[in-house]
Amino acid sequence: MDTRFPFIDFKLPQAIDRLPELAYNVWFSWNHEALELFARVDRERWDQILHNPVRLLLETDSSVWASLSQDTEFTELYTSVMKQWDEYQSQTTWFQKTYPQHTEAYIAYLSAEFGFHESLPLYSGGLGILAGDHCKSASDLGIPLVGVGLLYKKGYFNQKFNREGQQQTETVRYDFSKLPILPVQNENGERLTIQVPLADRTVLLQLWKIQVGRNAVYLLDADLEANSEWDRELTAQLYGGNQDTRIAQEILLGIGGVKTIRALGLPTAVYHINEGHAAFQALERIREQLESGVPFHVAVEIIRASSIFTTHTPVPAGHDAFGLPMVEHYLQSLFRRWNEHKQAWLQLGNTAGSAQFNMTHLALNTAALRNGVSQLHGQVSRDMFRSFHGNIDAREVPISHITNGVHLRTWLAPELQELFDRFLPGTWLKHQANLDQWQGIQIIPAESLWGVHMELKEKLIRFARANLREHRRRNDMPADKVEEVRSYLNPQALTIGFARRFATYKRANLIFSDLNRLHRLVNDEQRPVQFIFAGKAHPADLPGQEMIKQVYQVSQMDRFRGKIVLLENYDMNMARHLVQGVDVWLNNPRRPYEASGTSGQKAAMNGVINFSVLDGWWEEGYDGSNGWSIHGTNDADWQRQEQENTESIYRLLEQEIVPLYYNQGKLPQQWVARMKRSIQTLAPVFNTERMVMDYTNRTYIPALTRTLKFLANQHDAATKVADFKQFIRSNWHHVRILEIKDGTGQPAAGTAVKIASIPTDAANMLKDVTATIRFGPVWYKDTAVEIIYYEERKDGWHPVVVPMEPYRELEDRVVLYRARIPSHLQHQAHYSIRVRPVSANFATPFELPLLTSL
Ligand SMILES: *Cc1c(COP(=O)(O)O)cnc(C)c1O
Repeated sequence: MDTRFPFIDFKLPQAIDRLPELAYNVWFSWNHEALELFARVDRERWDQILHNPVRLLLETDSSVWASLSQDTEFTELYTSVMKQWDEYQSQTTWFQKTYPQHTEAYIAYLSAEFGFHESLPLYSGGLGILAGDHCKSASDLGIPLVGVGLLYKKGYFNQKFNREGQQQTETVRYDFSKLPILPVQNENGERLTIQVPLADRTVLLQLWKIQVGRNAVYLLDADLEANSEWDRELTAQLYGGNQDTRIAQEILLGIGGVKTIRALGLPTAVYHINEGHAAFQALERIREQLESGVPFHVAVEIIRASSIFTTHTPVPAGHDAFGLPMVEHYLQSLFRRWNEHKQAWLQLGNTAGSAQFNMTHLALNTAALRNGVSQLHGQVSRDMFRSFHGNIDAREVPISHITNGVHLRTWLAPELQELFDRFLPGTWLKHQANLDQWQGIQIIPAESLWGVHMELKEKLIRFARANLREHRRRNDMPADKVEEVRSYLNPQALTIGFARRFATYKRANLIFSDLNRLHRLVNDEQRPVQFIFAGKAHPADLPGQEMIKQVYQVSQMDRFRGKIVLLENYDMNMARHLVQGVDVWLNNPRRPYEASGTSGQKAAMNGVINFSVLDGWWEEGYDGSNGWSIHGTNDADWQRQEQENTESIYRLLEQEIVPLYYNQGKLPQQWVARMKRSIQTLAPVFNTERMVMDYTNRTYIPALTRTLKFLANQHDAATKVADFKQFIRSNWHHVRILEIKDGTGQPAAGTAVKIASIPTDAANMLKDVTATIRFGPVWYKDTAVEIIYYEERKDGWHPVVVPMEPYRELEDRVVLYRARIPSHLQHQAHYSIRVRPVSANFATPFELPLLTSL
């Protein structure tokens, strides 16, 4: 089963006949010479077709190829690109060196969106870009990763504004034969399809493939004649339609995703899902286990061991949930076949007392390793899912974090990459996460960095003017209004960028709270400030669209004309121009709604300085000297936070940012120093090379080894842990802490002892504490008994856990435990004792979130 290549005969001259190989691998999107090669074919056309190399190949006349094949400058560039491509594919990778024993099995990466390049409209925002960047770095690192997603006939949507600034959604039906994707064919040259049961029927899906460097991402397409009209539209649009479309799409993605991997015959060890969208993968894999005779509870353990779940949404309302009847309807064939497990199936996504099937709950129940996407988001997720985990201490909820990053070669301006090449060690792109490599940023002459930055800013301004012009031309504005944009935006002025999805929590209009104060900043003769806005609002998000309108209307006011602008149709191409060309990247979400945010990371590596609320990744990234933090009191009410944030934005602009930028005339030395700090401290950390290595070391490999262990000897370990959990769940209520005694004069107390070499005040004395615990049928060695108390440190209160040792069996299944703790701690006032189940087969200490405490 393979994609025949090339499936179109492009009839290129031999000297350049490997161009299709490049065009059909989005590696071109992170190789500047490859992009330049395509651009040289016809620069204007290249921009018009949104840098789509397949269209370029299809639509360029053979006479042009003939003459290019004679053009030595072109053929030399071609040869150099092909050489890099061959080297890229053949070099030994990080993964091969680090995990040579694990190169045979794939990691499946399932996502509803993928953002690789502007020519492939399969993304709506951050989640998709992250998935794209993840796959690119996985290829760079040599990780055997296979992606699965849906192929949307209409992509997301193209955004236009009318004269009032009302967003209009333009839908395009893409011709797949003109995108950098290939149909997957079987040995007989037939298109490969899979079937997914959906409600009372099956949906036929055709497989397509995007080549991403060394790896592939497969896409499912339901637009086939064999399907009903409604089913054909299931893969029409990203996040389009109603709840029915949504659940159907998620079934195609999750269940279809697994079937795709089976149809391709790829040995796959681990499944990584992003958001709950693909969580149905677990049901399909449990079903497979059942078909091969594995009991339900064991099947769940096998699938849990091999699933990784990344959550991206810090608000409960952002998590998909469907009514139970809807789930029963769409999954009816599964429930019919395995009717005896129907309640168990439903329980995987349903919590008692609710009538909803929650995709995030399904994901949490079926993935042993879970993570948020920044340190803060990890915390927020642990709080949010605490009650889901039996109300254990939030800190112990088994959800960790791996902070997002961005793919450096995709987002770093080629001009800067060239500059860095001159000053950083030759290996800097090979070891991006190595902090030392980035020290060389210091020795870049300020004029050079500033010079490149100014070039990029001018490029952005040309791009912005063209965008504004097109908007006015299309809206039939008078010729002078169209021409006027030629003078919009001043390359010398301090330029602030704000571009992201127009979700209301991102508060694009915050800066407009005091228009007079804004006016003074923008229209300062000596030290002007200008703003460039961009972003799409989901077609169903009316408040988001209202926000766009507001930005648009401010941009039309006389006093802000040409100084505050709103660009149409934010996409990856525009994002690149913005994050490379502005001076400051503004981000003022309502904390903690921004799980991570990644556009600021793109900006940072380009020497664009972040000016942001300490939310998402910026809480970790900001160090006091590499950008600015917008102040706000975290636990104050929204209104107060909003006031504080706004005041802080104006104050920082007036007192720090503007003065720093306009200090020292033509070459703002101190500004450049801050740009350097930004690059040096942030680029090595917030890139996907570091991120994907983290995923590999902390989740992929541990999940893979645990799964292998679970499956060995007729899944002996999986059976043990499944039986163990079942037994513990039904007997845990027998576990009781009968009595606690500590050194306060009561019978079983030990005597306080001094610790040598520590001053002799009460706090440094230790005392014995004992606990008498009745276990009932639970074996005491299957539990951990612990004392827990809290200790105040600089950053707040932290739990201290002291293990208790079994000391004496008092009577049958009643055991006395003991430990030593500081003698000033009083039971209940300061500490408590808890018992929890443990097993060497657990992936995390609280895999079974049961707890008895006193
Ligand atoms: C990077 C990017 C995003 C995500 O940016 P956030 O800061 O996470 O909002 C969204 N859309 C596009 C086109 C991007 O390039």
